Amino acid sequence: MKTLTVLGSTGSIGTQTLEVVDDLEYRVLALAAGKNIKKAEEQIRKYKPKFAAMANEAAAKELALKTADTDVKILSGLEGIREISALSADVVLNSIVGVAGLIPTLTAIEAGSDIALANKETLVTGGELVKKKAAERKVKIYPVDSEHSAIFQCLQASDRQDLNKIIITASGGPFFGKKISQLKKVTKEKALKHPNWSMGAKITIDSATLMNKGLEVIEAVHLFDLPQSKVEVVVHPQSIIHSLVEWRDGAVLAQLGVPDMKIPIQYALTFPKRANFVSRPLNLVEVSKMTFYAPDRETFSCLDTCEKAINMGGLYPAAVNGANEEAVKLFLNDKISFLDIGELVKKMLSENFAKTYGTIHEIFEADRRARNIVKELAK
Ligand code: NDP
Repeated sequence: MKTLTVLGSTGSIGTQTLEVVDDLEYRVLALAAGKNIKKAEEQIRKYKPKFAAMANEAAAKELALKTADTDVKILSGLEGIREISALSADVVLNSIVGVAGLIPTLTAIEAGSDIALANKETLVTGGELVKKKAAERKVKIYPVDSEHSAIFQCLQASDRQDLNKIIITASGGPFFGKKISQLKKVTKEKALKHPNWSMGAKITIDSATLMNKGLEVIEAVHLFDLPQSKVEVVVHPQSIIHSLVEWRDGAVLAQLGVPDMKIPIQYALTFPKRANFVSRPLNLVEVSKMTFYAPDRETFSCLDTCEKAINMGGLYPAAVNGANEEAVKLFLNDKISFLDIGELVKKMLSENFAKTYGTIHEIFEADRRARNIVKELAK
């Protein structure tokens, strides 16, 4: 039995991970989450981890009372999350949402645990630092994001030196085909309804603005060591092809499957082996038609903003991520409109940030500054 720690266990990816693990040779060592006491208690009773942590201190206290009859040790606050991440495990699956996932990833790498990475903000904000630490500690990073998992799977087929480019598919989100004039009065309820995937609130909004695709481009640049110009984005509304790679002879390989995150989660946990069906089979006749479009970069400006940020380098991706996290929060709190999200993130990018960085402190400073700029611009 291998040991597994799940960070963000109560979320969309976290709960699906635990369902996948039911059928795998893993023992759950530790769990960490934010504040969902009910779900955390259920998970502790079912998976019997030795340790669990809640970022919210009041939630940790209550969880400790509710699980006093079990053997679990409950830790609390950011320090508790850090302690959980520092436990040596065969794999740490990080599905915390937002930049809050960065320190736990770095801590787990420091402890020598391999990483199954769902938290895309880790590589977006701290890509260089994370890769350097992972190389030093000889830690492997397995992608959980379906697009990156697809590329990772396709890359197993040939020599890396023969790779020409990668093609990331995008569903287009709930507003695919709409123009700016049609998006002026979008409500959060509409933006939270993704056509193909069931996900947490923040990534669902990111999918609607195409910010999610922009973040994935940055994540791919780091994960696969490619320049941004070698990462193409194509809209594919059916979400059946999860991404593709093009080799230098013009051959293109794709990974297909039903849109179900359990498939890439399982692959990240079993690589290089494969396990049994964890979802329903793909029925191509039922799918019947697959279509492809160029992304509408004018209406959904976040994609261009992210591509610019990764080309500007240094702290710009971290700043763009922080600006977007703040803007999404403002939108979900009814403080700004849907279209403001992209506008605010774009405007923030005209500020000056360092073109190189070496410490995590600098990343969090850029994140804080970007959030403040967005708050000011939104007033
Ligand atoms: P959710 O919002 O559903 O879940 C987020 C999880 O993070 C919850 O368990 C939450 O705890 C926990 N959390 C929040 N803040 C903290 C913190 N400071 N410390 C520890 N835990 C915290 O998000 P998703 O599962 O949808 O997404 C998670 C990550 O995976 C994101 O980075 C997303 O981009 C990425 N991803 C998600 C996909 C999906 O299909 N959902 C697909 C590909 C990538 P609680 O609920 O208890 O407060």
